[in-house]
Amino acid sequence: MSNTRSYAALSATTPLEPFSFDRRAPRPDDVAIEILYCGVCHSDLHFVRDDWGFSTYPVVPGHEIVGRVTAVGDKVEGFKVGEIVGVGCMVDSCRHCEACERGLEQYCLEGFTMTYGSPDRHDGTTTQGGYSDKIVVSERFVVHMPEGIDLKSAAPILCAGITTYSPLKHHGVKAGHKIGVIGMGGLGHMGVKLAKALGAEVTLFTRSQSKVAEAKHQGADHVVVSTDEAQMEAVAGTFDFMLDTIPVQHDLNPYLKALKFDGTHILVGLIEPIEPAIHSFELVFKRRVVAGSLIGGLPETQELLDFCAEHGIGCDVEVIDIQNINEAFERMQKGDVKYRFVIDMQSLKN
Ligand code: NDP
Ligand code: ZN
Repeated sequence: MSNTRSYAALSATTPLEPFSFDRRAPRPDDVAIEILYCGVCHSDLHFVRDDWGFSTYPVVPGHEIVGRVTAVGDKVEGFKVGEIVGVGCMVDSCRHCEACERGLEQYCLEGFTMTYGSPDRHDGTTTQGGYSDKIVVSERFVVHMPEGIDLKSAAPILCAGITTYSPLKHHGVKAGHKIGVIGMGGLGHMGVKLAKALGAEVTLFTRSQSKVAEAKHQGADHVVVSTDEAQMEAVAGTFDFMLDTIPVQHDLNPYLKALKFDGTHILVGLIEPIEPAIHSFELVFKRRVVAGSLIGGLPETQELLDFCAEHGIGCDVEVIDIQNINEAFERMQKGDVKYRFVIDMQSLKN
């Protein structure tokens, strides 16, 4: 057992505060990691506030983890002490179902083990995430950080990046496709960069006039201000795909209208239930599809890290000290982040 310093939420209504707990000693297939950086995902905020109704407390959030290997179990073959590695949203799964065998652990038929807030499959203790100085994870759920990649801007690839890349790949987005990315936050700005790198023509939909120039700088070919009805009307019937990253309930119908016939609207936000209702006419008369997508499996996460290193793609990050996490949550709630907060975990020593 090893004493771990962290920041945790003790309830849905209290700020994050310093918290100590024990990490397990490495099991034979475990990698022990000293955490260097951890990204701040909107899902961390949803979980801390119990927006989805299944949160457990205390919770140490954080699932965009980059760190250095400090120890490995006897049976670990893929990692060595000193190596720089990453851990994303999952730390275990059943490993033998159809989804796991296909490297789609996020769709594990028995349910995957979340990096925080899940029962550990061996000892039943609750998993705790990356707003901490160390973590112990089975090697199957650890990825290699490519040589030379900028670690702080790579950390959010482990969730924001893979959550946008996986559906783009699954739906075969490529040159010749027109794609709309909705919302320019952590996921959205990575969606723009990755869709562009895959060759698509990218339009960003944002509420914020102030983000128009920046979106073009990120690589968007066009920007639509979604609160402007005339701009929304002007793009009716245009897109093959929409990648919808809005974290709260919103009307999908104006975006469905913007799809071509046979177009697909891909939801990644968990906006339960979808309200207002989807108009069946928007779907049926145009054979449109509303789809969902959840993070991405381990092989695809490694593929994406290598792709980002090769193409020089990283997140635009604002590095913060852990002591400022509550202010960062408030700013994220207001959409005031460009475009991902990343915690420098050295600050835990302050
Ligand atoms: P951010 O807060 O970084 O970005 C969300 C963006 O959505 C904002 O920047 C804003 O863009 C837009 N937005 C925010 N509030 C509203 C609103 N009230 N109405 C319309 N647009 C709004 O969040 P993330 O990118 O980190 O996460 C996005 C969602 O994806 C979250 O719900 C998160 O839980 C979920 N998620 C899902 C995953 C999956 O596997 N499916 C994995 C990870 C996250 P703008 O100012 O440009 O309008
Ligand atoms: Zn996330």
